[in-house]
Amino acid sequence: MTPDITIVGQGICGSLLSWALIQLGVSVRVYDTGSHLSATAAASGIINPITGKRYVKSWMVDDLIPVAERTYAAIGQTLATQVYTPLPIYKLLASVREQNDWSARTTDTAYRQYLSDTTLHRLSPEWMIDDFGAFAIQGGGIVHTPSFLARYRDYLREKGILCEEPLTQGQALTHKGRIIFCDGYRSAREGLFTTLPWQIVKGEYLLIRMKEFYDDRIVGGDTTISPAGQPGLWYAGATYQWHYETVAPTAQYRDEVIESLHKMLRLPFEVVHHGAGIRPSTRYRRPFIGFHPQHPHIGIFNGMGTKGMSLAPYWSERFAEHIVSGAPLSDEVDVARQLLVNPA
Ligand SMILES: Cc1cc2nc3c(=O)[nH]c(=O)nc-3n(C[C@H](O)[C@H](O)[C@H](O)COP(=O)(O)OP(=O)(O)OC[C@H]3O[C@@H](n4cnc5c(N)ncnc54)[C@H](O)[C@@H]3O)c2cc1C
Repeated sequence: MTPDITIVGQGICGSLLSWALIQLGVSVRVYDTGSHLSATAAASGIINPITGKRYVKSWMVDDLIPVAERTYAAIGQTLATQVYTPLPIYKLLASVREQNDWSARTTDTAYRQYLSDTTLHRLSPEWMIDDFGAFAIQGGGIVHTPSFLARYRDYLREKGILCEEPLTQGQALTHKGRIIFCDGYRSAREGLFTTLPWQIVKGEYLLIRMKEFYDDRIVGGDTTISPAGQPGLWYAGATYQWHYETVAPTAQYRDEVIESLHKMLRLPFEVVHHGAGIRPSTRYRRPFIGFHPQHPHIGIFNGMGTKGMSLAPYWSERFAEHIVSGAPLSDEVDVARQLLVNPA
């Protein structure tokens, strides 16, 4: 039987879109090769409401986080595993100026739910270099990406709706029924959507082993350190590479992460893994969602950039509602508008 919707890719986008459609009673089939080049598999999984050097709220974060928390809790219940853990994020400050910028931000009522803790924290001086202190961000947390991907894959397999083989955009042209590409950076390289304003960014990260470090928080400084699913195991990174010659990890960026770690940590650490992934980012930092104007049975759900964990839950719900009941898609994300400006 032809499913109502075929989804290509089981990263965070394909997983959450299939989930949202299943909740609305749509029959789906998901194609995924299980490639090691999934961005989701390389991600630390952090949801951080306040980002950048100026400590600003991420786009739409007040809407995104409640949907993300609800969605990951519901999926976790179905999979009998914890998909998301709320965690405080401690940001190390590097100067008096940064202290002042943060302090000014805490007085802004629009930031109260994320910066309600106005204490300038000193993290352990034996472990960390925190001469200017650190501040805490609430409302964020971590998606346990490796276990989530594996458990959700099992769930699709048990339902008999997973095809562990590739499906290309060339094949999609003659495919029966609607098909949505959630294939990460591949859509920027081949097929109907290459003319969209992509900005592909490679990231490299390390898994490190450290004794005695906090297991209840994310710490951001020259790089970011977050719990990696086992006591003593930490994710460190990731880098941002706009130009790269290989999708594989490189010694240059391994050294860059190690150097950043030495600027933050006094504790010794051992590198146990070095990995890389390709972020499907977009020039205007908005996702690409919707159906192709000339091939209306072919769609895309992509372009989540550096924030797939917070964007995908909210936008998969909106896209599923659009598919099922024709609810309009926001102009900011609608790919049909983008393709008019950037035709093939
Ligand atoms: C190093 C790194 C760290 C990151 N850290 C974070 C973070 O902390 N927080 C955050 O929110 N975001 C983070 N991101 C970004 C986040 O990972 C992405 O936004 C998100 O994972 C993109 O998901 P996706 O489903 O679009 O693509 P992917 O995860 O790449 O999934 C695409 C899937 O499609 C499959 N596929 C491709 N082509 C085909 C085909 N023809 N047929 C069948 N299957 C196919 C692939 O095998 C893959 O499984 C990070 C990214 C990287 C690289």
